[in-house]
Amino acid sequence: MGTYRDLLSAIAPSGDSREIKDPATGEKVANAPVHTATDLDAAVVAARAAQPTWGALSHAERSEYLNRAADAVEASAEALAELLSREQGKPLNGPNARFEVGACSAWLRATASFEMEPEVVVDDGETHAEVHYRPIGVVGAIGPWNWPMMISVWQIAPSLRMGNTVVLKPSEYTPLSVLALGAVLSQVLPKDVLHVVSGGREVGEALSAHPAIDKVMFTGSTATGKAIIRSSADTVKRVTMELGGNDAGILLDDVDPKAIAQDLFWGAFINTGQTCAAMKRLYVPDSLYDQVCDALVEVAGQMPMGNGLDENNVLGPLQNQAQFDIVARLVEAAREGGARVLVGGNPDSNATGYFYPTTLVADIDNNNPLVAEEQFGPALPIIRYSDVDEAVKMANGLDVGLGASVWSSDPARAREVAARVEAGTVWINKHGAVDPRIPFGGIKESGYGLEFGVAGLKALGVPRVISQ
Ligand code: NAD
Repeated sequence: MGTYRDLLSAIAPSGDSREIKDPATGEKVANAPVHTATDLDAAVVAARAAQPTWGALSHAERSEYLNRAADAVEASAEALAELLSREQGKPLNGPNARFEVGACSAWLRATASFEMEPEVVVDDGETHAEVHYRPIGVVGAIGPWNWPMMISVWQIAPSLRMGNTVVLKPSEYTPLSVLALGAVLSQVLPKDVLHVVSGGREVGEALSAHPAIDKVMFTGSTATGKAIIRSSADTVKRVTMELGGNDAGILLDDVDPKAIAQDLFWGAFINTGQTCAAMKRLYVPDSLYDQVCDALVEVAGQMPMGNGLDENNVLGPLQNQAQFDIVARLVEAAREGGARVLVGGNPDSNATGYFYPTTLVADIDNNNPLVAEEQFGPALPIIRYSDVDEAVKMANGLDVGLGASVWSSDPARAREVAARVEAGTVWINKHGAVDPRIPFGGIKESGYGLEFGVAGLKALGVPRVISQ
């Protein structure tokens, strides 16, 4: 599909609809359909009917479909990126809209490539036991608004690869991007293996309680995750929960602040901070504190923020008013707590769009709300520490544990500290670098279940043990 307008005409609503506005300008992007619980039922019935035929294909055949889906995404890449930028706000450039669309095809191809053979668990001459992974049935996928296309692919690709069909409910903030992605994928997928139902939280609630949905893949906030776990209980659905995080970065005292400043910056400010596994609190030793603050302020000054369609910009607006209000409240709490705002912190009240300036906050107490709560926006608290045990204790002190990072010029020292950090992933000298080959998932209230790689495929299958 050639332009973003072609994509919009392919998904134009025929019934009830809701206006979607560009978060950078407040201008209308398009109307999105508002589907209902009845539409959801129809989608589930169709997906259920399509599943046996899809599930009967071989892995090689379904992988071939995923590769063709990646081709289709690539053929419409620029149109998808423009629509994503208009709806979500993220710039075309930087690690943003084009990067996200590129990740969609990369994940589809990687998911097609993994080997998925039955596992022989015992073969001792007397007993031969194998574990096979069969399709679960119909997967209900519910996603957030920050990386709407990429996270949808994270849910769709392994589900389809394992022989399930999918009913996907995007966030009500970013339905157009996901409907357009669905239209592009449906050009090459068999009819009814993928449905996108675009509605509000009530559609999500109906999906997670639906008796004919066999598994829920959820990515979103911890509060919603808890609600979904509760509503999935009556039908004992399988669930994968990718929930909120408040990732710590710990710098050891042997880093070179200038050399790592750019990587630290993007670890925290990727997608203008609206990223589950972004660095949301940075722990810095006394000996390097001022140098790190200065180096980050310098990098922040080089990163233009503005309308995402302007090729110069690498940071965009927050996606919605509610998220803007959270960031503003938390930076205000930091100020009230006596912290020092190094840069940013004063949004222009006359500006159009939900722009919150890149904000760095120093000399902040570890218990301040800007540290203890997930800001999910462009405001990074920098916390001082004097000994590394104290830093590890502060990093581990919250109820969430998605990602974390340790930075050092000594790999062995970094690994020793990493082993003590409570998080699903601890990166060394980088932050948030997800990879389709490497399992990813949270611990504590950041959720459970793994995505990506063979572990991610197994999570979209039911084991069947054959023992003789
Ligand atoms: P959210 O929880 O508000 O909404 C996510 C989705 O859930 C939306 O589609 C929404 O309509 C739906 N929903 C809302 N209430 C529901 C209910 N009761 N039952 C079923 N569905 C319901 O999250 P958000 O604000 O869109 O996303 C931001 C959050 O997501 C942040 O906390 C972020 O850290 C987290 N996140 C986590 C990951 C991860 O991989 N762990 C990735 C991205 C975002």
